[in-house]
Amino acid sequence: MTSWVEVSERRLHANYRLLVEAAGGDTAVLAVVKANAYGHGAGVCAPVLVKAGAEWLGVADAAEGVAVREALVRARAANGAANGVAHEDQPRLCHDIRILVMSGLLGEDAEAVLSHGLTPVVWEQQQMEWLAAAVVQSGGDVARLPVHLEIDTGMARQGVAPGEGLRALLHWLKRQPRLMLEGVMTHFASPEEVGSAQTLAQRERFEEAIAAVAEAGLRPAWVHAGSSSTVDNAADSMVGSTIDNRNAVGNLAWLRSLAAGVGARSMVRSGIALYGYCLPIEPEGCGVNANVRCGLQPVMSWKTRVIGLREVRAGDTVGYNAIFTAPRPMRLALLPVGYSDGVRRELSGSNARAGGWVMLKGQRAAIVGRVSMNLTVVDVTGIAGVAVGDEAVVLGDGVTADDHARLAHTIAYEIVCGVRAEARLV
Ligand SMILES: *Cc1c(COP(=O)(O)O)cnc(C)c1O
Repeated sequence: MTSWVEVSERRLHANYRLLVEAAGGDTAVLAVVKANAYGHGAGVCAPVLVKAGAEWLGVADAAEGVAVREALVRARAANGAANGVAHEDQPRLCHDIRILVMSGLLGEDAEAVLSHGLTPVVWEQQQMEWLAAAVVQSGGDVARLPVHLEIDTGMARQGVAPGEGLRALLHWLKRQPRLMLEGVMTHFASPEEVGSAQTLAQRERFEEAIAAVAEAGLRPAWVHAGSSSTVDNAADSMVGSTIDNRNAVGNLAWLRSLAAGVGARSMVRSGIALYGYCLPIEPEGCGVNANVRCGLQPVMSWKTRVIGLREVRAGDTVGYNAIFTAPRPMRLALLPVGYSDGVRRELSGSNARAGGWVMLKGQRAAIVGRVSMNLTVVDVTGIAGVAVGDEAVVLGDGVTADDHARLAHTIAYEIVCGVRAEARLV
């Protein structure tokens, strides 16, 4: 194995608990484990999050949901075996943990939704017809499949917009004997912006949709909105925020009262913060929830091993296109990771522009030359005693996904999701 991801169980657990506390009240926190738990290994992270108290997990599609369900069943069986509990109950017990499939489905996914106890987000009649047909075919194991309805309040990606289309859909759903409207949700486009006028407009559209649901006589158990930034954007999560008068009721307080108004529980869906990262709250320095910010700890340590060492002379060039020339005799270490593994090519180091670095023996080793597909070269001239086989930290303490993101002109999300290495719990 050329590189591997170490997932800190302690940090993942602590981040989840911190978010639950920061969300406050009886607002539940759905733990998002889509995209292989943002590169951290969904099969590794999901059981830890469940142990930390998560009742809901979020995935992108049915295939991810199946993988997460199987990981939970395996973890439960392993636990059960350790505690001397019989295995027959394990799969059923695992269905107590809910898995929300958030990014749509096709007809062929309906069977997996049923067989693995997944809960789909839907917004079109066609999706619900596929699901209802699968319930009928399943021969009555499930009387009514719970679904969550997404409202498009301004993202224009998924969801049904409030208005006539929504009313028609609700009318149809109410008469559908095989499905049950368990949740209504929406997604904010700019939750990290303090006092965002866009969020406020989305809130109003969501209120309109919730009113339509109630008018249709439907009683969802859950109303959910918001992501990590909804929790750590303190100005917008507090009641009586003074940052923007129009936003006088913070987003979390608003969500709670909206849910309570229809007798439902509220929930936020957090992903990136579970893994210890967040978006910068804008405007900068304004209203960050310091408790959350200071408490979150990066969960991933991405490591590799030195596979080669060489001395170069002053004037020797390193790697493709010779963008780095050794200004003096140097000692270089070769690492068996490159852009195919998720080391961004923007981390390349030239003489004109310093690039990224890895941590070796607790010290920074700068990347020199171009990051290639499977290889990266780092400068270990100033680090005594580096040997072949030594561990190098590509991401972790001393070098964060925010560091990579800054160099690669992107966000920490894309960095961690781009890591292609097997995860193990530490
Ligand atoms: C990914 C996702 C989230 C989590 O967003 P974070 O910013 O990572 O917390 C929440 N809701 C939906 C619908 C998502 O797709």
